[in-house]
Amino acid sequence: MVKAIVGACWGDEGKGKITDVLAEDSDIVVRFQGGSNAGHTIINEYGKFALHQLPSGVFRQNITNIIGNGVALSVENFLKEVQSVVERGVPTPKLLVSDRCQVVMPYHKELDGMEEARLAAKSFGSTKSGIAPFYSDKYAKIGFQVSDLFDDKDSIMERIDHVLGLKNVLYTELYHQKPLDREEIYEKLMEYKEALAPYVADTTTLLHNAVKEGKTVLLEGQLGSLKDPDLGIFPMTTSSHTLAGFGCVGAAAPPTAIEDVICVTKAYSSSVGSNTEPFVSELLGAEGDELRRRGGDKGEFGATTGRPRRVGWFDAVATKYGCMVQGATQVALTCLDVLGYLDEIKVCTGYDIGGKITTDFPVPALLDQAKPVYETLPGWKCDIRGITEYGKLPQAARDYVDFIEKHIEAPITIVSTGPKRHEICYRK
Ligand code: GDP
Repeated sequence: MVKAIVGACWGDEGKGKITDVLAEDSDIVVRFQGGSNAGHTIINEYGKFALHQLPSGVFRQNITNIIGNGVALSVENFLKEVQSVVERGVPTPKLLVSDRCQVVMPYHKELDGMEEARLAAKSFGSTKSGIAPFYSDKYAKIGFQVSDLFDDKDSIMERIDHVLGLKNVLYTELYHQKPLDREEIYEKLMEYKEALAPYVADTTTLLHNAVKEGKTVLLEGQLGSLKDPDLGIFPMTTSSHTLAGFGCVGAAAPPTAIEDVICVTKAYSSSVGSNTEPFVSELLGAEGDELRRRGGDKGEFGATTGRPRRVGWFDAVATKYGCMVQGATQVALTCLDVLGYLDEIKVCTGYDIGGKITTDFPVPALLDQAKPVYETLPGWKCDIRGITEYGKLPQAARDYVDFIEKHIEAPITIVSTGPKRHEICYRK
C-alpha cells in the first residue's frame, strides 16, 4: 500500500518528523518532487538533521530510499548529504536514484540567482537552488535525464548544443554574462554520470513490483498545498507539484495504490515565503516575534535558508483547502506544545472578502483582499511537550484540536508534542 505524507499549507509543517516516525513500518520512502531547496528537520538517536534531498527514511537500515523521477536532483548536494549523514554515524543508507530523474545543472543555479537579482524587490524569494529554471527546462524538453548521461558522446554533444543555443542568448543578452562552454558542460555531465552510477536504477519497475508484492511505500512531499503551481497561491508557488496526486507521477506509483494521504499541519501558521506573499492570519510585532522565537524546534527559521519565517494564528480556511486538495485521509497536527504560553489562542475561521465572509479559500487574485475572521479559544497555560498519551493533554488543548478538526473537515489522528521522534500522541 502507498501512503503519501504531504503539507497542508506553506511547507515547514513538520513532514520530516512525521515521515521519520511513520518510516518505521515502511519498506520504501520516495521523494517525488522538489529539490535541495527543501529542509526536513529530523531529530533522532543520531542527532539533529536538516535533510534537503535525501528521503527521510535514510536513518533506518531496513528501508530503501528513492529519489523519484519528479525530483530536481542536485548531484553535488546529494553526494554531500550522503557523506554528511554517514560521517555523523548513520549506517550507509540504501539509496536509489531513478534513471528518469533529471539533474540540476550549474547554469540552473546561476540563472536562478541572476533572475532574482534582475527582479530585485519583486523577486519571489527563491532559495537560488536552480529549481525554477530546472523545471522550466524539463517542460521545455531541454533537461538532462540521468539515463541520458549514459548515452554516447555525439548524442550528448548534440543535446548540449541545442540547450546552449537557447541558454547563451539569455546569458549574453539578458544577463550580460560570458556564454556557457559546451566542453565544460559535457565534463560536468560525465562527472555526474560517474558519481551517480552506483545509485541509478529503474525505480519505476521497482516501485510497481513493490506495490504488487504488498510492500508499504511512503511518498514524501516537499512544501505544501499552497505552494502548488496549479492549486496554490500562484505565482508565489514552487515549480513542482506539491500534491499527493502528483506523487504517482513523481515517484512512478499507480494512482489507485495511494490509500492513505497524511496531511501535516502546524497548530499555528508559518511561512518562509517573501513578505510580498499574502498571509491572511499573520501575526506581526511583538506577538509575532514571540511566536517565532518559541516555534518549531529552536524558533521558526528556515531549515535551508535560515530566514526568519513569518508566523500567524492557525488558518482554518487555508488548511481546510490544503487538506481538500491533498485528498487528506488523516491529519497530523504538529507543534501543539508551542502554544502552551498563550492565555488565549485565536483561530482564523473565515475570510472577509469585500464584506462577504467565506470559509472557502479564494483564488490568488482575491487573496490580497482577504481579512481574517477570528474565533478565540482559551489557552492551556502549561507545558505539554513530550506527552505521548492523547488523554493526558489538558482539556483546553484537546478542545483546541477538536475545534480545528471541525473547521478543517478532516480527521486529526496524530498530534505531535515536540520535535523529537517519541514526542507524539495518536488520537484515534
Ligand atoms: P518540514 O519541512 O515540513 O519537515 O518542516 P521543517 O523541518 O522545516 O520545520 C518543522 C520544524 O518544527 C522543525 O524545526 C522541527 O524540528 C519542528 N517540529 C516538528 N514537530 C514539532 C513539534 O511537535 N513540536 C515542536 N516544538 N517542534 C516540532
